[in-house]
Amino acid sequence: MPAFWTESDFDDHEAVQVVRHRASGLTAIFAIHSTHLGPAAGGTRFWHYPDPALAMRDALRLSRGMSYKNAMADLPMGGGKAVILADETRTKTPAMLDAFGDAIEALGGRYVTAEDVGISEADMVAVARRTSYVSGLPTHGSPGGSAGGDPGPFTAMGIYHGIKAAVRHKLGRDSMAGVHVAVQGTGSVGGGVARLLARDGARLTLADIHHDRAAALAAELGATQVAADDVLDTRCDVFSPNALGAILDDSGVGRIEAPIVAGGANNQLARPEHGAALAARGILYAPDYVINAGGIISVTLEYLARCQGSHCDVDEVNRRLKQIPERLAEIWRQSESSGVSPDAVADRMAQAKIGR
Ligand code: NAD
Repeated sequence: MPAFWTESDFDDHEAVQVVRHRASGLTAIFAIHSTHLGPAAGGTRFWHYPDPALAMRDALRLSRGMSYKNAMADLPMGGGKAVILADETRTKTPAMLDAFGDAIEALGGRYVTAEDVGISEADMVAVARRTSYVSGLPTHGSPGGSAGGDPGPFTAMGIYHGIKAAVRHKLGRDSMAGVHVAVQGTGSVGGGVARLLARDGARLTLADIHHDRAAALAAELGATQVAADDVLDTRCDVFSPNALGAILDDSGVGRIEAPIVAGGANNQLARPEHGAALAARGILYAPDYVINAGGIISVTLEYLARCQGSHCDVDEVNRRLKQIPERLAEIWRQSESSGVSPDAVADRMAQAKIGR
């Protein structure tokens, strides 16, 4: 097996650490991609990987993505990610979370964690018993209330602003009334996006592998539901991926029947060339880590405020969420004038910000 630092996903990460704590059964990877702009911030993923090399790949790719996401959101944070390698039964014990918290504390503030797939707010509260380098702690946050807590609603709000910007840019429409959006994944983010769009009179098609989840939301919003396998082929104005990554692969790019792709899933492009393939088809793409930064904006501002013994101002979070469409518009403008696809433009901007 090749060493991980010779793999294409290794991007001169500042540090990669594997922690094993036999007594609790914890095996975790910490990938610190960059601390150029501040402590490496990014969530913890708790996942069962059939092969540990896949866990390393996730940690490397996701931590680089966090460097880019935090830089593009103008946050004073670098990029990092933690992955806990779960067993097949995905058993998560208090002792394991304690050991995980101790490992974060031992990094001395170089890495600040938050929720990601498989990790709940309650898990973060448990980790915070052992270390203060934790964001995303419950504060009953919502875009209309105080900041912090569950990042999902803030992520959804940023995507909503981003979709409206894409519709304005590509379709020349200022209103979402009657604009047809197909939403893949109706969980925390996709469900939030769908509710916000429904308020504006958008026409919605929803899909989720949890059929009942999409059905309940479709009934609530008066939307149409399609099978999870069919949503990619839906003829619509906007395809909004809010489920898994890597859906824009050789087959996925060809199946899109929409002039716009704008959604919150991380790592939507299977490979960089798929961004160029979308552009070649005339499809406007909203780079995922730019449009889905709402949650990290909220949890980071909450964390920084807590470090200073104060509370985060939700108006400040909302002001920053409204910069997401401006940032996207700048990327699309540069893409059009340079002929470089939007994902590559965003990567270049992010790399310049982190001194690469
Ligand atoms: P979630 O688990 O709440 O929702 C995901 C939904 O997608 C679930 O309902 C799941 O059943 C569905 N799904 C999974 N595979 C699917 C498929 N093939 N087709 C259709 N539906 C499918 O997760 P979430 O927090 O809403 O996150 C969604 C995506 O957004 C993830 O890629 C996540 O990494 C990304 N993201 C989330 C946040 C956040 O704040 N929660 C922030 C940035 C990015």
